[in-house]
Amino acid sequence: MPQTAPLRTVHVGSFSITYLPDGGGVVVPTALFPASAEGGWDRHQELLDQDGKLITTIGGFLIQTPERKIIVDTGIGPVSIDFPGFGPFSGGRFLDSFTQTGVDRQEIDTVIFTHLHLDHVGWTSIEEDGQRVLTFPNAKHLATQIEWETWAGGDNPAGPHPDTVQKPLDGQLIFIQDGDEIAPGITVLQTPGHTPGHISLKIESEGQILYLVADVIHNVAQFEEMDWFVAFDMDPEVARQSREGLYEALSQPNTLVACNHFADEIFGRLTNEDGRWVWHPLT
Ligand SMILES: [Zn+2]
Repeated sequence: MPQTAPLRTVHVGSFSITYLPDGGGVVVPTALFPASAEGGWDRHQELLDQDGKLITTIGGFLIQTPERKIIVDTGIGPVSIDFPGFGPFSGGRFLDSFTQTGVDRQEIDTVIFTHLHLDHVGWTSIEEDGQRVLTFPNAKHLATQIEWETWAGGDNPAGPHPDTVQKPLDGQLIFIQDGDEIAPGITVLQTPGHTPGHISLKIESEGQILYLVADVIHNVAQFEEMDWFVAFDMDPEVARQSREGLYEALSQPNTLVACNHFADEIFGRLTNEDGRWVWHPLT
């Protein structure tokens, strides 16, 4: 039975990348993937729980290089949210996960947002002595400009909260773009479609690579079902181009892939077997 994915650290050359679970969601599969019909899931029964629901994990990452300590995405935050027709999503464990790494919040030098959906920005700020403060007070906070401009000033329930996310970030965000090297070995790849300014990261050290693809791919079934976009993809066709445009690179040797929302295990490898994309979760 699928479950939310655990905290796990993988090594890529001299870097370590730790997945920091925050919580998860229990989702109606045909709602999350509107192009999938009930029968389509007959081929993917192992991905559903006993009630026929999809389990998604919600979390972020800590990347440690010899010089840098970087957070990528911050989960959904200490909330429970019911999206009508989809199912409940909840978080709350992100900082506990982070504490297990032994790193201090003050030590984080950079926070990168792959995009600004609510389940990636939830721990942007915390309440301290009655004040809203950035969770990682010494970090530069990075996102793309188009992503910020998509959401800023609005109050979309799928986007960054006006008080706990937008306000603390206003005037603080540093805009990044395709090809930027955020730190030695960590490069921005624009992968739009899910949101207009969605990015992935290529993380490379000593000949080993990890692609952190965030919400380019939501579920293992998508490797087989090329038409299955996610209901939250703001431009499904562009999202599909981003997704399929990455597969060749993801399937190279010495290459790991991290997909934020996978159940059970978010790290894995992709291969192409007789024209079919096959996902191999890390064991
Ligand atoms: Zn997401």
